[in-house]
Amino acid sequence: MKFGGTSVADAGAFRNVAAIVKAAETGRPIVVTSAIAGFTNALLASVDAAVNGDAAAGAQSLNEWFDRHAAIAYELLGRPARQSIEAAILEARTEVGRLLKIIGGYPVTRPPLQDEIVAVGELLSSQLLAAVLRENDLPARYVDARECIKTNEDYGSATPLPETNATAAEKLQPAIEGGEIPVLGGFIASTSKGITTTLGRGGSDYTAAIVGAALDAREIQIWTDVSGVLTADPRVVPEGQTIPVLSYQEAAELAYFGAKVLHPKTIQPAIDKSIPVRVCNSHAPTDAGTLIVAESESAPLTIKAIAHKNGVTTVQVTSARMLGAYGFLRALFEVFDRHRTAVDVVTTSEVSVSLTIDDKIALPELIPDLEKLGSVEVEEDRTIICVVGEGLRNTPGIAARVFSVIHDINVSMISVGASSVNLTFMVDEAQATDAINRLHKVCFESSVSNASDSTELKCSQEEPLAAA
Ligand code: ASP
Ligand code: MG
Repeated sequence: MKFGGTSVADAGAFRNVAAIVKAAETGRPIVVTSAIAGFTNALLASVDAAVNGDAAAGAQSLNEWFDRHAAIAYELLGRPARQSIEAAILEARTEVGRLLKIIGGYPVTRPPLQDEIVAVGELLSSQLLAAVLRENDLPARYVDARECIKTNEDYGSATPLPETNATAAEKLQPAIEGGEIPVLGGFIASTSKGITTTLGRGGSDYTAAIVGAALDAREIQIWTDVSGVLTADPRVVPEGQTIPVLSYQEAAELAYFGAKVLHPKTIQPAIDKSIPVRVCNSHAPTDAGTLIVAESESAPLTIKAIAHKNGVTTVQVTSARMLGAYGFLRALFEVFDRHRTAVDVVTTSEVSVSLTIDDKIALPELIPDLEKLGSVEVEEDRTIICVVGEGLRNTPGIAARVFSVIHDINVSMISVGASSVNLTFMVDEAQATDAINRLHKVCFESSVSNASDSTELKCSQEEPLAAA
């Protein structure tokens, strides 16, 4: 059970987590927690301050955060437990101050020391959570995640070593067998020499998947602040509903469109072992949430979601030199490479290539380089719409139905993803809300009206799979 930062944002949230864990106690859970919401950003900002020559201001800026932990401990813990958390907070505060000073003096020490500093977020939240669970009569035991997860030395976004499976199991299995509930911080790990590392932003999900895979968990639960993955962004489509079941691949396609969905890399360990991943809402724990499973167990004949992304720029490069030539695409992509700009959707014809980028910072330098290859046309304020579902792979006629619903809206760059579980296209941002709502209506809101029509878009209405 992994709890994100907003699930441990304050005393009420901690209390809530205790109730959720209590309800799951007989399932022998392992608990993974993020730092309290916002603390990781604050810790990173303090490192920036130190690098910019003001270590003291950096340290100062963290005081309110340490106080916040102390206030939660004060509200939720009895005296002895509170005192040991207060000691841990004091120690962290002193250590972070010392490390910031070193970084201020020697900015080259930044990468490893930054990880050491940032790790304080998860070290404190996990000790605090273990104490709160114990206070609620749960047999929780704090475990230092750095002793479970072993990585390479790629500070800031380290990669787990194969031995992690064994070390995590070795650390956690005895506690579970002894009837205890291990509680560990997400995101943090260490090298084989024991130097602290981190797994990249949002890495607590990754920790949960690594630990779940190492212990052959029945299920990996990601507790967040939304009720699972939705059929569309609720800010655009108020009728958006929770998707009961998604395949891993559908989830991966959706990941690009919103931070609310799991990053594919973070659930890879779960995919490798076919462990279901459930996304649940810690603020509404009885909501069903979304279960992410292997393709065969998902609902293969349906459309699952209409995802979108605004503020996208399309770049079209046209050149007769492309016709019948080789090496052109390589030269083109090298330009994007050089300017460190990620390309998302690509369509090509014989003499032109259209691409989308969502970070246009490098555009002024990109364009002159692209103009060496051909004529360049740029359009801003575009929206990518992406229809996602295994049904696209298996059901004839779905694309025709999608486009007929928005027949009067100008669509470009149509692409059926290589994975064939997505149908992606661009519209003008001004028409996006209209298009998305129309698509949502036909995919998810129409009652199943015309059963004889074999090309009908099926909705993902089946019941969520029962917990294994
Ligand atoms: N606390 C870390 C972050 O904010 C890891 C996580 O929350 O998943 O990136
Ligand atoms: Mg997160």
